[in-house]
Amino acid sequence: MAHPALDPATARVLISNDDGIHAPGLKVLEKVARRLFREVWVVAPESEQSAASHSLTMRRPLYLRPAGRRRFTVDGTPTDCVLIAIHQVLKDRPPDLVLSGINRGGNLGEDATYSGTVAAAMEGTLLGIRSVALSQLYADGGEAPWATADRWCEEVIRRLSDFEWPKGVLLNVNIPAVSAAEVLGIEITRQGRHKIGGTMIEGVDPRGKPYFWIAGERQQDKGLAGTDLAAVHAGAVSITPFCLELTHKASMGALAALFR
Ligand code: MN
Repeated sequence: MAHPALDPATARVLISNDDGIHAPGLKVLEKVARRLFREVWVVAPESEQSAASHSLTMRRPLYLRPAGRRRFTVDGTPTDCVLIAIHQVLKDRPPDLVLSGINRGGNLGEDATYSGTVAAAMEGTLLGIRSVALSQLYADGGEAPWATADRWCEEVIRRLSDFEWPKGVLLNVNIPAVSAAEVLGIEITRQGRHKIGGTMIEGVDPRGKPYFWIAGERQQDKGLAGTDLAAVHAGAVSITPFCLELTHKASMGALAALFR
């Protein structure tokens, strides 16, 4: 079963992210979405929630605050934002599309499982809405090339309006760290895998206690052919379809035999 076609003239679009309401990538995505769709809403975290994954805030109340026309903040995670947007802000009519991002930095390989950007799209998908996570890579020490994000996120989202979107599938889009003109094109990829290690710093705090600090970004990693990592390394936009069904079906027979 697939979603009905997306009509840009009538579609209602919800935007969220994990970098927070003030993030430059959110503003880029709002601009892109407003060029493509008539009705765009933003419900984004009040503060940065990168690596929040799919966490839900359950032990304290959440506050929804206005932040402009059709714009709100929530003092919670990206998942909280999408839930409150769909159950409260847009309860008269659910959105036809959820866009999450544009994240500052890639969400490639297993990093997608930590990502708050991807989680907002996961939540949209669980609530039955077609959803896209968008991330812009950047070179070490530099600002993200937002003009590249602007040009290529528009291209991807515009062309997706013809996609026969299966239920339960979200799209993880990564834009390479090159100028808009240098992008080689769009590749459909599978989720890759980074090399292991090298992401933690050890130190001693001012009171003499040793600590560990997990680094945010991994080394650039070329990845295997056909993966998200390989595509962006080569300078192409990567689109990976994800599903939320986690079952490894091939193992079921052997396990069933073992536990008979
Ligand atoms: Mn982020």
